[in-house]
Amino acid sequence: MSRRWRREEQAIGLVPTMGALHAGHLSLVERARRDNDRVVVSVFVNPIQFGPGEDFDRYPRDPQRDAGLLAKAGVDAIYRPTVAAMYPPESSTRIHVAGVSEPLEGQARPGHFDGVATVVAKLFTAVEPDRAYFGQKDAQQVAVVKRMARDLDLAVEIRVCPTVREPDGLALSSRNAYLTSVERKSAASLSSALRLARDAYAHGERRPERLRQILRERLEAEPLARVEYAEVVDPETFATPGSLAVLAVRIGKTRLIDNHDLEIEFSG
Ligand code: AMP
Repeated sequence: MSRRWRREEQAIGLVPTMGALHAGHLSLVERARRDNDRVVVSVFVNPIQFGPGEDFDRYPRDPQRDAGLLAKAGVDAIYRPTVAAMYPPESSTRIHVAGVSEPLEGQARPGHFDGVATVVAKLFTAVEPDRAYFGQKDAQQVAVVKRMARDLDLAVEIRVCPTVREPDGLALSSRNAYLTSVERKSAASLSSALRLARDAYAHGERRPERLRQILRERLEAEPLARVEYAEVVDPETFATPGSLAVLAVRIGKTRLIDNHDLEIEFSG
Protein backbone atom coordinates (compact mmCIF):
# COMPACT_ATOMS: atom_id res chain seq x y z
CA MET A 1 0.00 0.00 0.00
CA SER A 2 2.71 2.47 0.95
CA ARG A 3 4.49 1.59 -2.33
CA ARG A 4 1.46 2.79 -4.31
CA TRP A 5 1.25 5.95 -2.22
CA ARG A 6 4.93 6.55 -2.86
CA ARG A 7 4.41 6.12 -6.63
CA GLU A 8 1.62 8.68 -6.44
CA GLU A 9 4.00 10.98 -4.54
CA GLN A 10 1.75 11.09 -1.52
CA ALA A 11 3.52 12.10 1.67
CA ILE A 12 3.42 9.33 4.26
CA GLY A 13 3.58 9.88 8.02
CA LEU A 14 4.39 6.95 10.33
CA VAL A 15 3.48 6.80 14.02
CA PRO A 16 5.24 3.86 15.71
CA THR A 17 3.42 2.55 18.82
CA MET A 18 3.15 -0.50 21.02
CA GLY A 19 -0.67 -0.21 21.14
CA ALA A 20 -2.82 0.22 24.27
CA LEU A 21 -3.47 3.59 22.75
CA HIS A 22 -4.24 6.76 24.68
CA ALA A 23 -4.58 10.47 23.95
CA GLY A 24 -0.76 10.83 23.79
CA HIS A 25 -0.58 8.44 20.84
CA LEU A 26 -3.59 10.11 19.24
CA SER A 27 -1.92 13.52 19.44
CA LEU A 28 0.92 12.09 17.31
CA VAL A 29 -1.64 10.73 14.83
CA GLU A 30 -3.37 14.11 14.66
CA ARG A 31 -0.08 15.88 13.94
CA ALA A 32 0.82 13.28 11.31
CA ARG A 33 -2.56 13.80 9.65
CA ARG A 34 -1.98 17.53 9.40
CA ASP A 35 1.49 17.13 7.87
CA ASN A 36 0.95 14.23 5.42
CA ASP A 37 -1.42 12.80 2.77
CA ARG A 38 -1.39 9.33 4.36
CA VAL A 39 -0.87 8.17 7.92
CA VAL A 40 0.30 4.70 8.93
CA VAL A 41 0.31 3.64 12.59
CA SER A 42 2.38 0.63 13.54
CA VAL A 43 1.26 -1.40 16.54
CA PHE A 44 3.95 -3.79 17.67
CA VAL A 45 4.99 -4.79 21.18
CA ASN A 46 8.66 -5.19 20.37
CA PRO A 47 10.09 -8.09 22.39
CA ILE A 48 13.75 -7.11 21.88
CA GLN A 49 13.36 -3.79 23.67
CA PHE A 50 12.22 -5.51 26.87
CA GLY A 51 14.79 -6.95 29.26
CA PRO A 52 14.43 -10.26 31.11
CA GLY A 53 12.02 -9.76 34.00
CA GLU A 54 10.43 -6.70 32.39
CA ASP A 55 6.75 -6.45 31.48
CA PHE A 56 6.71 -7.83 27.89
CA ASP A 57 4.22 -10.59 28.77
CA ARG A 58 1.84 -8.44 30.76
CA TYR A 59 2.14 -5.29 28.59
CA PRO A 60 -1.49 -4.25 27.88
CA ARG A 61 -2.76 -5.41 24.47
CA ASP A 62 -6.17 -4.55 23.02
CA PRO A 63 -6.03 -4.67 19.20
CA GLN A 64 -9.78 -4.21 18.72
CA ARG A 65 -9.97 -1.11 20.85
CA ASP A 66 -6.83 0.27 19.16
CA ALA A 67 -8.31 -0.37 15.69
CA GLY A 68 -11.50 1.48 16.65
CA LEU A 69 -9.61 4.50 17.97
CA LEU A 70 -7.37 4.61 14.88
CA ALA A 71 -10.32 4.33 12.48
CA LYS A 72 -11.99 7.22 14.27
CA ALA A 73 -8.76 9.22 14.09
CA GLY A 74 -8.74 8.82 10.29
CA VAL A 75 -5.65 6.63 9.98
CA ASP A 76 -5.11 5.14 6.49
CA ALA A 77 -3.40 1.92 7.53
CA ILE A 78 -2.41 -0.02 10.62
CA TYR A 79 0.80 -2.03 10.35
CA ARG A 80 0.73 -4.87 12.84
CA PRO A 81 3.58 -7.29 12.10
CA THR A 82 3.95 -10.53 14.05
CA VAL A 83 7.00 -11.21 16.20
CA ALA A 84 7.86 -14.18 13.94
CA ALA A 85 7.83 -11.97 10.83
CA MET A 86 9.94 -9.25 12.45
CA TYR A 87 12.46 -11.58 14.07
CA PRO A 88 12.69 -14.94 12.31
CA PRO A 89 14.99 -17.30 14.21
CA GLU A 90 17.96 -16.64 11.91
CA SER A 91 17.83 -12.81 12.34
CA SER A 92 20.88 -11.57 14.22
CA THR A 93 21.41 -7.86 13.43
CA ARG A 94 21.02 -5.18 16.11
CA ILE A 95 21.59 -1.44 15.81
CA HIS A 96 23.59 0.14 18.61
CA VAL A 97 23.63 3.93 18.81
CA ALA A 98 26.76 4.58 20.88
CA GLY A 99 26.91 7.49 23.31
CA VAL A 100 23.41 8.85 23.65
CA SER A 101 21.81 5.42 24.23
CA GLU A 102 24.16 4.51 27.06
CA PRO A 103 23.41 6.58 30.22
CA LEU A 104 20.16 6.71 32.26
CA GLU A 105 17.53 4.57 30.49
CA GLY A 106 20.36 2.78 28.68
CA GLN A 107 22.00 1.90 31.95
CA ALA A 108 18.78 1.02 33.75
CA ARG A 109 17.54 -1.11 30.83
CA PRO A 110 20.54 -2.75 29.11
CA GLY A 111 19.82 -3.49 25.44
CA HIS A 112 16.60 -1.46 25.46
CA PHE A 113 17.72 1.16 22.95
CA ASP A 114 19.36 -1.42 20.67
CA GLY A 115 15.90 -2.98 20.50
CA VAL A 116 14.24 0.37 19.86
CA ALA A 117 16.74 1.46 17.18
CA THR A 118 16.50 -1.91 15.42
CA VAL A 119 12.71 -1.99 15.33
CA VAL A 120 12.42 1.65 14.26
CA ALA A 121 14.86 1.04 11.37
CA LYS A 122 12.82 -2.03 10.34
CA LEU A 123 9.54 -0.09 10.53
CA PHE A 124 11.06 2.66 8.36
CA THR A 125 12.15 0.07 5.79
CA ALA A 126 8.72 -1.56 5.73
CA VAL A 127 6.62 1.62 5.57
CA GLU A 128 9.03 4.04 3.82
CA PRO A 129 7.56 7.12 5.49
CA ASP A 130 8.56 10.69 4.67
CA ARG A 131 8.12 11.65 8.32
CA ALA A 132 7.93 9.74 11.59
CA TYR A 133 6.36 10.98 14.82
CA PHE A 134 7.66 10.42 18.34
CA GLY A 135 6.59 11.73 21.75
CA GLN A 136 8.77 13.98 23.89
CA LYS A 137 7.59 11.75 26.78
CA ASP A 138 10.35 9.32 25.75
CA ALA A 139 13.06 11.98 25.42
CA GLN A 140 16.06 9.66 25.26
CA GLN A 141 14.31 7.52 22.66
CA VAL A 142 13.86 10.68 20.58
CA ALA A 143 17.56 11.50 20.89
CA VAL A 144 18.56 7.93 19.96
CA VAL A 145 16.24 7.79 16.93
CA LYS A 146 17.38 11.20 15.69
CA ARG A 147 21.06 10.20 16.04
CA MET A 148 20.42 6.94 14.19
CA ALA A 149 18.51 8.68 11.37
CA ARG A 150 21.39 11.13 10.87
CA ASP A 151 24.15 8.54 11.14
CA LEU A 152 22.50 6.09 8.72
CA ASP A 153 21.33 8.86 6.32
CA LEU A 154 17.76 7.63 6.66
CA ALA A 155 15.48 9.70 4.42
CA VAL A 156 12.89 10.11 7.19
CA GLU A 157 12.23 13.37 8.99
CA ILE A 158 11.82 12.85 12.74
CA ARG A 159 9.12 15.04 14.28
CA VAL A 160 8.66 15.32 18.04
CA CYS A 161 5.32 16.04 19.72
CA PRO A 162 4.76 17.45 23.23
CA THR A 163 3.89 15.21 26.16
CA VAL A 164 0.15 14.87 26.78
CA ARG A 165 -0.70 14.92 30.49
CA GLU A 166 -3.57 14.15 32.84
CA PRO A 167 -5.11 17.16 34.61
CA ASP A 168 -2.83 16.56 37.65
CA GLY A 169 0.25 16.54 35.40
CA LEU A 170 0.86 12.77 35.13
CA ALA A 171 2.17 12.00 31.64
CA LEU A 172 -0.15 9.61 29.83
CA SER A 173 1.40 6.17 29.46
CA SER A 174 0.07 2.71 28.68
CA ARG A 175 1.83 1.61 31.88
CA ASN A 176 -0.33 3.92 34.04
CA ALA A 177 -2.91 1.12 33.82
CA TYR A 178 -0.73 -0.88 36.24
CA LEU A 179 -1.16 1.69 39.04
CA THR A 180 -3.52 1.11 41.97
CA SER A 181 -5.56 4.15 42.98
CA VAL A 182 -3.19 5.00 45.84
CA GLU A 183 -0.18 4.64 43.53
CA ARG A 184 -1.92 6.71 40.90
CA LYS A 185 -2.12 9.65 43.36
CA SER A 186 1.53 9.31 44.25
CA ALA A 187 2.50 9.21 40.53
CA ALA A 188 1.66 12.91 40.28
CA SER A 189 4.94 13.52 42.13
CA LEU A 190 6.94 13.13 38.89
CA SER A 191 5.37 16.10 37.12
CA SER A 192 5.25 17.99 40.39
CA ALA A 193 9.04 17.56 40.79
CA LEU A 194 9.60 18.70 37.19
CA ARG A 195 7.43 21.76 37.81
CA LEU A 196 9.43 22.68 40.93
CA ALA A 197 12.72 22.37 39.01
CA ARG A 198 11.29 24.48 36.21
CA ASP A 199 10.25 27.19 38.73
CA ALA A 200 13.74 27.25 40.23
CA TYR A 201 15.30 27.40 36.74
CA ALA A 202 12.98 30.25 35.77
CA HIS A 203 14.21 32.10 38.87
CA GLY A 204 17.82 31.73 37.72
CA GLU A 205 18.91 28.47 39.42
CA ARG A 206 21.47 26.79 37.13
CA ARG A 207 23.54 24.67 39.55
CA PRO A 208 23.04 21.05 38.38
CA GLU A 209 23.39 19.62 41.89
CA ARG A 210 20.76 22.02 43.26
CA LEU A 211 18.32 21.23 40.44
CA ARG A 212 18.90 17.52 41.00
CA GLN A 213 18.26 17.99 44.71
CA ILE A 214 14.97 19.79 44.04
CA LEU A 215 13.81 16.88 41.88
CA ARG A 216 14.90 14.25 44.39
CA GLU A 217 13.48 15.97 47.46
CA ARG A 218 10.03 16.21 45.90
CA LEU A 219 10.10 12.57 44.79
CA GLU A 220 11.48 11.29 48.08
CA ALA A 221 8.67 13.04 49.95
CA GLU A 222 6.41 10.40 48.39
CA PRO A 223 6.49 7.21 50.50
CA LEU A 224 5.53 4.93 47.57
CA ALA A 225 8.12 6.38 45.18
CA ARG A 226 11.62 4.98 44.68
CA VAL A 227 13.87 7.17 42.54
CA GLU A 228 15.96 5.36 39.91
CA TYR A 229 17.46 8.53 38.52
CA ALA A 230 16.78 12.27 38.54
CA GLU A 231 19.23 14.21 36.38
CA VAL A 232 19.52 17.33 34.29
CA VAL A 233 21.14 16.56 30.92
CA ASP A 234 21.73 17.84 27.41
CA PRO A 235 18.64 16.91 25.34
CA GLU A 236 20.69 15.73 22.33
CA THR A 237 23.59 13.86 23.90
CA PHE A 238 22.11 13.02 27.31
CA ALA A 239 25.42 14.07 28.86
CA THR A 240 25.58 16.54 31.76
CA PRO A 241 25.20 19.47 32.06
CA GLY A 242 22.10 20.59 30.22
CA SER A 243 18.56 21.82 30.64
CA LEU A 244 16.51 18.65 30.26
CA ALA A 245 15.31 17.25 33.59
CA VAL A 246 14.78 13.48 33.28
CA LEU A 247 13.24 11.13 35.83
CA ALA A 248 12.75 7.41 36.27
CA VAL A 249 10.77 6.44 39.34
CA ARG A 250 9.25 3.23 40.60
CA ILE A 251 5.85 3.58 42.16
CA GLY A 252 5.17 0.20 43.71
CA LYS A 253 6.05 -2.27 40.96
CA THR A 254 5.47 0.21 38.14
CA ARG A 255 8.36 2.03 36.52
CA LEU A 256 7.46 5.51 35.24
CA ILE A 257 9.58 8.01 33.30
CA ASP A 258 9.02 11.69 32.61
CA ASN A 259 11.05 14.72 31.56
CA HIS A 260 10.82 18.43 30.97
CA ASP A 261 13.12 20.95 29.30
CA LEU A 262 13.64 23.54 32.03
CA GLU A 263 14.03 26.26 29.39
CA ILE A 264 10.35 25.83 28.55
CA GLU A 265 7.33 26.82 30.60
CA PHE A 266 5.61 23.83 32.23
CA SER A 267 2.15 23.42 30.70
CA GLY A 268 1.00 20.17 32.35
P1 AMP B 1 4.59 3.57 23.11
O1 AMP B 1 3.36 2.91 22.58
O2 AMP B 1 4.60 3.74 24.58
O3 AMP B 1 5.84 2.94 22.55
O4 AMP B 1 4.57 5.04 22.54
C1 AMP B 1 4.46 5.29 21.15
C2 AMP B 1 4.78 6.73 20.90
O5 AMP B 1 3.86 7.56 21.63
C3 AMP B 1 6.19 7.12 21.38
O6 AMP B 1 6.78 7.99 20.43
C4 AMP B 1 5.90 7.82 22.67
O7 AMP B 1 6.88 8.77 23.02
C5 AMP B 1 4.58 8.49 22.37
N1 AMP B 1 3.89 8.82 23.63
C6 AMP B 1 3.68 8.00 24.69
N2 AMP B 1 3.07 8.66 25.69
C7 AMP B 1 2.91 9.94 25.27
C8 AMP B 1 2.37 11.12 25.85
N3 AMP B 1 1.85 11.12 27.08
N4 AMP B 1 2.37 12.26 25.12
C9 AMP B 1 2.90 12.27 23.87
N5 AMP B 1 3.42 11.19 23.26
C10 AMP B 1 3.44 10.04 23.94
